[in-house]
Formats: sequence, structure tokens, C-alpha cells
Amino acid sequence: MQLIDLNRTKDIGSSCLSAKIGSFNILFDSGISPKRSGYDALPAFDKLGTTVIDLILISHCHLDHIGSLPYIMKRQQQARVLITQASHIVLPRILNNCVTVMQLQRDEQGIKEYPLYTLADIEALEQHILPMQFGKSRVLRKDNDEITITFFEAGHVVGASSILVEHKHRSIFYTGDVLFRDLKILRGAKWPTRKVDTIITETTRGSTIRAKERSADSETERLIGTIRDTISRGGSVLIPAFAFGRMQEILKIISCARQKNKLQQTTPIFCSGLGYGLIEDFDFISKKLSGVNFRKRITKELKIKIFRGNNPTDIKKQIQEPSIFVLSSGMLVENTSAYNVASAIIDDHKNAICFVGFCDETTPGGELQKYSQGDSFLFKAQNYVAKIAAKFDKFDISGHADREEILKNILTMSPRAVVLVHGEEDSRNWFMDELIELSPSIQVFDMNPCEECLV
Ligand SMILES: [Zn+2]
Ligand SMILES: [Zn+2]
Repeated sequence: MQLIDLNRTKDIGSSCLSAKIGSFNILFDSGISPKRSGYDALPAFDKLGTTVIDLILISHCHLDHIGSLPYIMKRQQQARVLITQASHIVLPRILNNCVTVMQLQRDEQGIKEYPLYTLADIEALEQHILPMQFGKSRVLRKDNDEITITFFEAGHVVGASSILVEHKHRSIFYTGDVLFRDLKILRGAKWPTRKVDTIITETTRGSTIRAKERSADSETERLIGTIRDTISRGGSVLIPAFAFGRMQEILKIISCARQKNKLQQTTPIFCSGLGYGLIEDFDFISKKLSGVNFRKRITKELKIKIFRGNNPTDIKKQIQEPSIFVLSSGMLVENTSAYNVASAIIDDHKNAICFVGFCDETTPGGELQKYSQGDSFLFKAQNYVAKIAAKFDKFDISGHADREEILKNILTMSPRAVVLVHGEEDSRNWFMDELIELSPSIQVFDMNPCEECLV
């Protein structure tokens, strides 16, 4: 099998892996980088040369996995897109929102090539989609060759899958992003219990050590405690969260805590637009498919309001009483509602900012975590320097599995080769060292951007 990682850098960027398996040309995911802009945010599609793509296998609907799908489909119109039923439901809303954001960035930041695709391009995707049920294989043929594809539950986010590709006597398992523990709104990953030849694995948490006393459950309790204490002292709480998945999970955590009287009952709760819109989709998915538990009555129970506001002065005026803001983006990317609220509340010691997921260190969220109370922090997009007075903290309730769990599950499948993708250099190194030590017969490949690799 020939592989090329089209993500331009060794990190969590625009996930896209090109694979030649028999006579099939396949892309695993087609993402966009949250850290870069313009054409630079796309995978290095130019490396495909004249390759005609047959199949695009989508693991899940986070933008780092689907953000460039309409762009590549416009140029590879023969390709078929395989995606789970739940991902198929949320895909248009997430991509349409991406177009809106790109249009804003074109106007505000002068990125001329934005939007990279249109609403019509997203609509045109529909005719290429082959929806997949978990555990139900699909056989695809080309010339005299055939390939079998099966999607498995990957936890992580609604609709997320790990994908098994079988060709002749070979099997390749692409993990996508994976979480084994159950979330409040979603069942954890269910990987096949069989041997596979090659595993292509995410490595997001490879350099993250979970402190023994900080289980996901105890971290959830600590988050609830921080919210309760902040509101009690008259402050507001900002929880930056990905609009798709994380935001709904946090709302469910708040709802459960309120039912147990662990949180104040009447604190106003604000969400941002995309996350709120997705509540409708999650409700539909919960009714139709198993494994998802999120109904839209939560908006009434929690009296959720949609947040609107840009600059710190206006937002400060809007905050009339202690409130909870569950807003995107999770990494406080510039000009998002979470970024704007952070700039408005950070200079008051009564407030708190609670990070609940991975923050790339080059994003404002990642940068902020290197600072301490008393330091000054520049909100570049607003040309505004704020003195940090608010409490800020990280809660380890990540949507990604701990590195040890992924390693254990990889070894259970006795692969001949493991390919490392979707992680920083340090994170990949941890997996590389552990795999070599625990099972020296496994060949480990650390993919370099845009370099061909024969596995
Ligand atoms: Zn993801
Ligand atoms: Zn990802």
C-alpha cells in the first residue's frame, strides 16, 4: 500500500491521507487546518498530481477532517464519499457554517480566496454520498478489483467512525479520532476484536500524561465545582468548546448537575449559533439511531440563549448577571464568540475560563494557558491588551482516548505495521517508543508531510 500524508505539517491540521490499495485510490478524510488560512489551510492536494480518487472515507465531521471535502469533490467528481448516517445528517450544517465563517474572514481579514467553496458545492456533495451503518460492510468494485469497507463506532463525537478496509488478504484499520469511554451523550468506541495488518492511528494525546487522581469523572466534578463557586462569588464562567459535540456534552453535564442540585438552577446559559443549531440534528439522530442520547428539550430545561457580541466593551454591558457561556471555539480561535467573551471577562477576578479540550499551543487558547494571573495578554484580533485577573484552568475531559488506551487496543489487534498520524512530533514519538519496546516485530511509520511511504 502506498500512503501520502497530505497534511502539510506534523500536527493536528488538515487531516487527509492518500492511499493506493490495489487499483483503488482512496482519501482518508479531507480536513482543513484550524490554524492556517486561505489555500494554506487545505491539504496539499497538488501532491495528488493526476491521481483519480475513487473513494473518500470520512471518519467524522470535525472541520480538521471534513473542511476541504467540497473543495476536493469539485475537482474529483467521480469520487464517492462514504460517511456514517449520523455524520451525513450534521455534515451540511457544519460545512455551511464554514462557508459563512470564510466569507466573514474574507471581508474582515482580506483573505481573497475565501470562501474556498460555495453552498452549491456543499449541496452537490449529496449525490456522491454513500451512507454507512456501523458494522455493516459495503463491497465496492473497480475494473476486476474489489474492496470491502466497514465502519465501526469511534466514540469521540456523534457519527464518528474508525474504518476497516479489506483488500484481498490485507486489512487496514484507520482509527480517525477515538474515545473509548462513554460520554453523557454518546456511547464509546467499539473496535473490532480481530487481527488487522496495518493500523493508521491518531496520536493526539501521545504527549499528555493523565494524573492518576484526575479521571474524566473526577475532572467533570471539578468543573462543576468551579462553575458553582464562580457563580456563587458573582462571576461568570466561559467554557470554550467545539460547537459540534463538546458543546452539547457540556450542556448535558450542566443539566445533570442541576438535576442533582450541584449547580444553581437559574443561572443564564449562553451558546453560540452553530452549537445551538446542531441540537436540532442531535435530537433527530437520537430518535433515529442508537448510541446517541441528546434531546432538544434541554434548550427549554436550561433556558439556553444564543450569544451575540463582538467587542469587549459591548459584551461587558450585556453581562447583567453571573452567567455561563458555552461557546465555540474550543481553542479560542480569533474572532470566535469564545475569543470575544474571553476578552471581555478576563480582567475581572470573579470570572473563570475553563478549558475542556485540546488546545494547540499556537492558538490563542494554547497561548493563554502559558500565562498567569497578573500578566497582560494581547487579544490581537481586537488590538486589545487585557490584564489577566480571571481564574483559568484546564479540565482533562478530552474527547480523545488516553494514549495508553489507544496503545492497548492497537496491540490487541496484533498489527504488522502501525502508521502514526494526527499528532504533534512529541506525541508520535511516545507511540513510536512504546510500540518498539512492547512489540519489536511491529513496523512503525511516522508519516512525514507529503512524503510517499510504502507500508
Ligand atoms: Zn475530531
Ligand atoms: Zn481530529
